[in-house]
Amino acid sequence: MSQPLQTAAAGVHIAGLRKAYGDNEVLKGISLDVSPGEVVCLIGPSGSGKSTLLRCINLLEQPNDGIIEVGGYAVTDPDVDVDQMRRHVGMVFQQFNLFPHLTVLGNCTVSQVKVLKRPKAEAESIARAELESVGLGHLAHRYPGELSGGQQQRVAIARALSMNPSLMLFDEPTSALDPETVGDVLAIMRKLAQAGMTMVVVTHEMGFAKEVADKVVFMDGGVVVEQGPAAAVIGNPQEARTKDFLRRVL
Ligand code: ADP
Ligand code: MG
Repeated sequence: MSQPLQTAAAGVHIAGLRKAYGDNEVLKGISLDVSPGEVVCLIGPSGSGKSTLLRCINLLEQPNDGIIEVGGYAVTDPDVDVDQMRRHVGMVFQQFNLFPHLTVLGNCTVSQVKVLKRPKAEAESIARAELESVGLGHLAHRYPGELSGGQQQRVAIARALSMNPSLMLFDEPTSALDPETVGDVLAIMRKLAQAGMTMVVVTHEMGFAKEVADKVVFMDGGVVVEQGPAAAVIGNPQEARTKDFLRRVL
């Protein structure tokens, strides 16, 4: 039987992960370890399997083979309680995915009440604190459509944090933003990293990866081509494919 997740920052252990869509194998035996409190940036060309890897970690995609553990909890165990597992894993998407018909406060409250069964007043107080921490306390009663992209993404982060996750997954969180709002979102992610959150971040922001990541993982064609400290992988890549990719993005 699977063990319950630890509530503090969780580590991630992935070994031999495979995922295919029909005949198209997009993850070809991925192995990756993230220690509790570590920040890992996943980089690589479009179509290399970064989003699929992230989505396998919280079972938005079902892996075909391999092991994934989050906080020592075997996500790939056939008996896994998916709802229980997802409570501890926050995810932030490129397109924010806020509920358009709910206010900012409503977005940050609804899952706390429905999933965690928190009383509404407690959920709202937690949501307000998280909104303050991303600098948006004053927009609690607005609707997502009234906010800039950067503000919406900060709400999405506050919403995820309101669930007290022990792991945060970010899939290109700044790729859909106007350039002038990218910095605000990255600043919040940096603060979260400094607070000790375990984070796996798919990003094209090489400056952020260099500065914040404990480890950078370069993927291409469904495999990990190269991984290591940011200074090594970005600053002094060893593999031809990594060099070629960085030449194009830097
Ligand atoms: P990345 O995030 O690195 O751009 P993805 O993980 O999104 O890469 O995609 C990897 C490959 O898997 C691509 O060839 C993509 O077309 C394919 N793919 C992703 N999601 C699906 C899906 N739901 N159904 C079929 N193919 C998919
Ligand atoms: Mg992607």
